[in-house]
Amino acid sequence: MLDQQLHLLFPHVCLLCQKRLLPGEQYCCSSCRAGFDPFSSHSEAEGMLRRTIGSHFGDKFLFDRGWCLYRFHKKSSLQQVLHAMKYEGLFNIAKSFGSQLGEWMRSAGDIGDIDCIVAVPLHPLKKMERSYNQSEKIAEGLAQSLQKPLRRELLVRKRYTVSQTGLSAQERKKNPEGAFQLRKGPVGRHVLLVDDVVTTGATMAAAASVLREGGAEKVSLAAVALAIKE
Ligand SMILES: [Zn+2]
Repeated sequence: MLDQQLHLLFPHVCLLCQKRLLPGEQYCCSSCRAGFDPFSSHSEAEGMLRRTIGSHFGDKFLFDRGWCLYRFHKKSSLQQVLHAMKYEGLFNIAKSFGSQLGEWMRSAGDIGDIDCIVAVPLHPLKKMERSYNQSEKIAEGLAQSLQKPLRRELLVRKRYTVSQTGLSAQERKKNPEGAFQLRKGPVGRHVLLVDDVVTTGATMAAAASVLREGGAEKVSLAAVALAIKE
């Protein structure tokens, strides 16, 4: 049995090292968590999001504000946790990251004019396959923490895009174009778009352009992690 599945049966043990969790620790003990690589300030995270997305899109995709908790490194403990969150049924981890993201955003102040929160959607078939959308679970925790409405039905994925894993940066950029569609309006003036990991920003860019066409004046981004070139 996979360690991650074991965690479903024994939620009081660390997902990664199987040590018993101490009070206050959730899903992952503090020594495993020490392997995560958090941003030290809001401006550092936002700056790195702008540089990453800017390096792929220039000024074709300008987002209003950007929030992110961690740098994402391959083969890190964070990667293992995010993998479990996405594929192993441990969606409570996503909600917990959402609350953490909400606290992080509130501590930055200046989030007052966000009207609604939208998660990057999965194609309905993929959602059936996985039974939940990890980004939507993150967005649930975030919406609760920020006390902002989560618009589940606003954006849909109309194309079954291939997984981004294993694609080159160029392919990733092309992959999500035309993948999204608005289903129910009206779109809020300032939409906060939520995803788990930002790699090139291609998915966010494609989703944001549909939201803008639908009437959003500002689109801001929130993600658990930003992939770092290694
Ligand atoms: Zn551990």
